[in-house]
Amino acid sequence: MKYISTRGASAPVTAEQAILTGIAPDGGLYLPETVPVFSKEDLAEIAASDYRSAALKVLRPYLPSFTDDELVSCVGEAYARFDTSEPVQFQDLGNGLNVMELWHGPTAAFKDMALQLFPRLMPLCKAKCGTAEETWILTATSGDTGKAALEGFCGVPGTRILVFYPYGGVSRIQELQMTTQQGDNVGVFAVRGNFDDAQTGVKRLFGDASLAADLAERGVRLSSANSINWGRLLPQIVYYVYASARLSVGGPVDFIVPTGNFGNIFAGYLAKLMGAPVGRLVCASNRNRVLTDFFETGVYDRRRPFYKTASPSMDILISSNLERLLYLASGRNAGRVAAWMRELAEQGSYAVPDSVMEPLRETFSFGFADDTATVEAISACWNEHRYLLDPHTAVGYAVYRELKNPSNPAVLVSTANPYKFAPDVLKAFGMSADGFEAQDLLGTETGVPVPASLSALREKTVRFDTVLSPEEMKTVLL
Ligand SMILES: *Cc1c(COP(=O)(O)O)cnc(C)c1O
Repeated sequence: MKYISTRGASAPVTAEQAILTGIAPDGGLYLPETVPVFSKEDLAEIAASDYRSAALKVLRPYLPSFTDDELVSCVGEAYARFDTSEPVQFQDLGNGLNVMELWHGPTAAFKDMALQLFPRLMPLCKAKCGTAEETWILTATSGDTGKAALEGFCGVPGTRILVFYPYGGVSRIQELQMTTQQGDNVGVFAVRGNFDDAQTGVKRLFGDASLAADLAERGVRLSSANSINWGRLLPQIVYYVYASARLSVGGPVDFIVPTGNFGNIFAGYLAKLMGAPVGRLVCASNRNRVLTDFFETGVYDRRRPFYKTASPSMDILISSNLERLLYLASGRNAGRVAAWMRELAEQGSYAVPDSVMEPLRETFSFGFADDTATVEAISACWNEHRYLLDPHTAVGYAVYRELKNPSNPAVLVSTANPYKFAPDVLKAFGMSADGFEAQDLLGTETGVPVPASLSALREKTVRFDTVLSPEEMKTVLL
């Protein structure tokens, strides 16, 4: 299986090349040239299996040069650090709604599902490509990716990881998770600006030819752990296939997905293309409702105010993975995708015709919730179900409650543990506090246990406290 660029001007590559390089030389994103399709028997087998076996079955066709032994050990190690034996947990809230908890990994957010597996693929990809280069992972983070990537790459031979997060743009707990990171191959920097500024800064480093030449002389190659990397997306397909196969009662299962960079929900779309019984995919946004407007109007317009919200990991105005959806939805029209992305870069917007939008609206539902609606959703869910949501998942719950007659069984994709965002969750109980005090109050109020990885932060010392402007990112890298 080869991987091709959504912008059509780069040569097809193998899976290991796609994962090593992250972004295609023409600026596009890699996608498999064909999507493998499961038979009914395959899906029945997945429905009856455990998560790790389901993962092997989904990964195999996408990584043809990996041996079964290699995949078994990568998957085994990836999910060994989760606090439950099955990495994905389901909570049945009744009335056909299940919550799929994806946050039982070491950093208490769903990013671990991919970022515990992806770094383990990396050394194998290098061996298969016959390269001895060091890989430096550059990551811009709106909060959760950074910590998950640090945990995933910490100590992985032949790699270093540098994380850039928006200064003042992540929660106190998220910041502490990153700035206390252990390991010799890690670096963490706060960047003045918002997430898009940090992400643009990282993209600029990737596009800097003289920097690449400089690093090549030192035997170093840059790569990315953002969800533009195929190695990040692939592990996320697994839980959509697995959940829909298990929870289907003959028909399709809908998923409500709190969305930012469009990576998580796009993995759900791929699961659907693979033949899994995925029904509608509900794209839930916070007040940064650029995707809601896009699905409504066909116009993607990033020229709008950027809001900091209670769901910071979704505070994004450029949803990179939408490019992959547009590529598939336009009938793999790379020329068109390249033109749209050029318009986005140059004018800040592009318009997609109805012929492409109409079929998409049959699969995707969409909606948004502002912070008030988010806090109300946390409160409603607690009062009705005694189930505690984090603000990101609560955006999804708020949008779900607004849906007109949800007809299929539905899965609310839960992307973070509530204690990661305790101050905002606490507002749903009419209280206010920050940091660990907020965790303590929330624990007393609800009796819901704090994950061990978050309690442990109280004892750790800060190792990284540098604040940079985006222009200084290249200097610290060098
Ligand atoms: C990253 C993240 C999201 C958004 O996921 P995308 O793949 O960027 O759409 C939602 N919730 C949480 C908690 C996250 O960490």
